[in-house]
Amino acid sequence: MRVDPLAFLSTELDHLRDQGLYRSLRILDSRQEASSTFDGKAVVNLSSNNYLGLTTHPKLVEAAIQAIRDFGVGSGSVRTIAGTMAIHMELEQRLAAFKKTEAVVVFQSGFAANAGTVSALLTKDDVVISDALNHASIIDGCRLSRAGIKVFPHKDVAAARTILQDLPTSQRKLLITDGVFSMDGDIGPLPGLCDLAEEFGCIMMVDDAHASGVFGANGRGTVDHFGMHGRVDIQVGTLSKAMGALGGYVAGSRDFIDFLYHRARPFLFSTSHPPSVAATCIAAVDVLEQEPEIIERLWENTRFFKAGLASLGFDTGLSESPITPVMAGEGSRAMDLSDRLFKEGVFAQGIAFPTVAKDKARVRTIVTATHTNDELQYALDAFKKVGSELGLI
Ligand SMILES: *Cc1c(COP(=O)(O)O)cnc(C)c1O
Repeated sequence: MRVDPLAFLSTELDHLRDQGLYRSLRILDSRQEASSTFDGKAVVNLSSNNYLGLTTHPKLVEAAIQAIRDFGVGSGSVRTIAGTMAIHMELEQRLAAFKKTEAVVVFQSGFAANAGTVSALLTKDDVVISDALNHASIIDGCRLSRAGIKVFPHKDVAAARTILQDLPTSQRKLLITDGVFSMDGDIGPLPGLCDLAEEFGCIMMVDDAHASGVFGANGRGTVDHFGMHGRVDIQVGTLSKAMGALGGYVAGSRDFIDFLYHRARPFLFSTSHPPSVAATCIAAVDVLEQEPEIIERLWENTRFFKAGLASLGFDTGLSESPITPVMAGEGSRAMDLSDRLFKEGVFAQGIAFPTVAKDKARVRTIVTATHTNDELQYALDAFKKVGSELGLI
């Protein structure tokens, strides 16, 4: 009889169960909205990245349907063979104008954009200087490139400087940070890092996944927020969060984007977006340009909810964005908090190791522009009840 070579995995899963860290997926039974039905239960939804409510915006839905009627459901090829449709080029041009850069290339996801870009750009002779809390897709891109990886403590510009001082001047260097950190909601120190990049001749890269559609004028991102136009060589953004659809993009110089057309492996070896996705994203750019009041509403809701959590006495870390963590200590406590909130009708996902450090487990909340005050107050009341049950406040 054949011995199951994967039997060791059941032991691993049992181990997760013992630690209270085993998760089954929550199933969304409705549209992704401010209040949704997960696992058959109607809840206030504080777990999506749907910052502006664009997943269900009528203009985006119409654009997708029209594109399917006009162009079908699939692109049929990778970009470099037959899968570059006019609508893909139109989206890239719109994004480049929006980001005020020479050019943009769109990838299948933000993950593919980061991993594909970093791995294309660097070789084993180069070095990456990377914030300790940078996103997994950046880390994977660094590993794929085989470049040396030097990690500086979170947001510590002085420590990054010390690392740079010890590196040979001739070595090619990529200095990289998240614009907004996805688990803590704080902002990368762009002004300090741009100064360093200029002093030490580094390529400067920012991953603005959680800043796209949220920070800067009309949601142009952290480079706009800090007035750093022209000082960041590579900006990555996502089309999967505030933009409501799916995809990632890289904004930079025409030469850099041309280089990625030739060397970025997800671009060369994985099929391009269905035309409906490109059409949806063009409509999302329209909305950012024409309805910036949605972004204002997001920030009003953010201020209201953060103030509410703070006045209840929760530890909410150092967030400066609509992402607000509620710190719970060890992993099982965060999962318990999340489960109890869910029973009270509030979905805020528990996040534990390896996504965050072992003693920094939390539930992560993200408000959107489409939450009503009543929904947010309902969530605050649930946090108050469950937080005192668990001794967190
Ligand atoms: C979500 C995220 C990504 C990945 O974006 P997708 O479009 O979901 O693949 C990349 N970087 C950061 C910082 C993120 O938060």
